[in-house]
Amino acid sequence: MSDCIFCKIISKEIPGNIAYEDDRILAFHDLEPQAPVHVLIVPKKHIASLDDVAQEDAELLGYLMSKVKDVAAGLGLENGYRVVINTGEDGFQTVKHLHIHLLGKRKMTWPPG
Ligand code: 5GP
Ligand code: ZN
Repeated sequence: MSDCIFCKIISKEIPGNIAYEDDRILAFHDLEPQAPVHVLIVPKKHIASLDDVAQEDAELLGYLMSKVKDVAAGLGLENGYRVVINTGEDGFQTVKHLHIHLLGKRKMTWPPG
C-alpha cells in the first residue's frame, strides 16, 4: 500500500526505531508513547484491520501473536504488559495497517479509556 505509513516504515522508506524484525513481522517504537515502553508490532503484509483479516491470514496472525512474548522479553517486560488492537472508528484506530500495541513498564488500569 503506497500511502500507508506503516508499510513505509516496513520498507524503510521512513525510518522507524526498530525493536524486532524478521521476514514476516516488524516491531517498532511508537512515535507518541503511552507508557515507558510502547511498541507497535505489525505484519509486513498490509492488512488494514482485524475487520480485514482473511482466512489465509490465520497462520501469519498466529505467528504474530506467538512472537509477542519474545518482543516483550527483548524489551525487559518480565513483570507483564498489555496488548491492544484498536479496530475501526469506535475502537479509535487511526492507522489502517493492523498493529498490536505492546505497552509496559508501568502499572495499567482497567477499564481502559
Ligand atoms: P491506533 O490509534 O491506530 O491504534 O495507533 C496508531 C499508533 O501509531 C499511535 O499510537 C501513533 O502514535 C503511532 N504512529 C502514528 N504515526 C507513526 C509514525 O510515523 N511512526 C511511529 N513510530 N508511530 C506512529
Ligand atoms: Zn500498510
